[in-house]
Amino acid sequence: MPNYDVIVIGSGPGGYVCAIRCAQLGLKTACVEGRDTLGGTCLNVGCIPSKALLHASHLVHENDHNFEEMGIKTASAKIDWKKMLDYKDGVIGANTKGVEFLFKKNKIDWLKGWGSIPAAGKVQVGDDVHEAKHIIIASGSDAASIPGAEVEIDEKIVVTSTGALELPKIPKKMVVVGGGVIGLELGSVYKRLGSDVTVIEFMDGITPGADGEVARNFQKILKKQGLEIITGAAVSRVETLKTKAKVSYKLRKDDSEHQIDADVVLCATGRVPHTEGLGLDKLGVKVSKRGQIEVDAQYRTNVPGIYAIGDVIDGPMLAHKAEDEGGAVAEMIAGQKPHIDYNLIPGVIYTTPEVASVGATEEQLKEAGRAYKVGKFNFMGNGRAKAMMQAEGFVKIIADKESDRILGAHIIGPVAGEMIHEICVAMEFGASAEDLARTCHAHPTTSEAVREAAMACGDGPIHA
Ligand code: FAD
Repeated sequence: MPNYDVIVIGSGPGGYVCAIRCAQLGLKTACVEGRDTLGGTCLNVGCIPSKALLHASHLVHENDHNFEEMGIKTASAKIDWKKMLDYKDGVIGANTKGVEFLFKKNKIDWLKGWGSIPAAGKVQVGDDVHEAKHIIIASGSDAASIPGAEVEIDEKIVVTSTGALELPKIPKKMVVVGGGVIGLELGSVYKRLGSDVTVIEFMDGITPGADGEVARNFQKILKKQGLEIITGAAVSRVETLKTKAKVSYKLRKDDSEHQIDADVVLCATGRVPHTEGLGLDKLGVKVSKRGQIEVDAQYRTNVPGIYAIGDVIDGPMLAHKAEDEGGAVAEMIAGQKPHIDYNLIPGVIYTTPEVASVGATEEQLKEAGRAYKVGKFNFMGNGRAKAMMQAEGFVKIIADKESDRILGAHIIGPVAGEMIHEICVAMEFGASAEDLARTCHAHPTTSEAVREAAMACGDGPIHA
């Protein structure tokens, strides 16, 4: 008789949500975690610590740039970096302890240590072998190295996001390799704290894959904030020289070679699935060329009784995607029939302004040959955004040309990451732009800009 119904390997947002949902559904559950604290990348070295530093550095920026105009007299902000890191660590601790509390509350055993799967139905942690009817791999991801470049990460001078969240001091000069979400968020943090930040991106623009119009505007805004952004550049080498590093790159347009010095180089060129030490080879679990565990629509691997979710499988590497899969696989094991609509997973960049999107981009619709219309509304026409001194950006809603059904939405502006959910819900229910436009929105809110963008898909907004 197995001692568990379910053993989850990894306690990130995929694993811990899965474990809690399994327990709620009456399954005897354990979760294996090798870190000292629960919560995975997200709570320990990802979403949560980065948002703590983004919040604190945003306030520094507000103090130094907007307070005076609002009639608030303060001295220029002085940064006590150690204290800021303590604050960030406190936020991490409160969240990881929260998951520990939820495990106890739901009677989930935390099997402490690194787990492997010696055979289907068995999980080994240290010398102990546990048995389970179902094993769920939620082992997450690690930072990727810079493709095609010679780089040695020491997490001091040449760092991944993990090192960037605990630098001993604020660097004078930082180079960020990779103009994606993580690079831009952490680059913004250090820019606001006084570093000179240069972002080097291989593609011709930042945030590849985002709606082109949003990405172009975002790049302009970040440049205005003082971030230097070099696009179309391939980094070939990052050399560490005692207390500094030298980054060599080639501009793709003319093959010219360049070098740039930095106190810290942040490598933020994406993440790769973490499967090391699980024993997948011996088990015969299929893994794709990109290192992702292959699963079917029910998150089953090719080996019966073994499932995988989150960053370790295909799809956007996002905490909420991992969470939804964690819930879904638990419900499937319990005999329910959950469904995740992968078209409705929002993506958010937590800079100022925030960037949020859901559904199709214009580029995707053009490629698919689908007839669409666009409704746009600028935050300059939104009273609340102006009062917040954050009237940069716009809401863009894309709807089917004939049926008016919403196909996608892209926001760049204040609290975009909160506003996007109204559109996610609308899309979940198959709403038209007119449905949103006819829904009363409280005044004055930034969400009124969503309504006006929806109106712009029809007869036109009021305030533009
Ligand atoms: P993870 O969170 O990576 O957790 C996996 C866990 O499994 C780890 O704790 C690991 O120690 C453990 N583990 C692995 N192998 C074993 C083993 N053999 N035995 C025991 N334990 C094991 N996403 C967002 O949605 N929003 C954000 O704002 C955001 N910000 C981010 C900022 C940064 C700097 C980074 C790096 C990532 C960010 N992400 C964000 C991405 C997000 O963190 C991941 O998508 C998410 O954590 C994936 O969850 P997961 O459960 O699949 O894996």
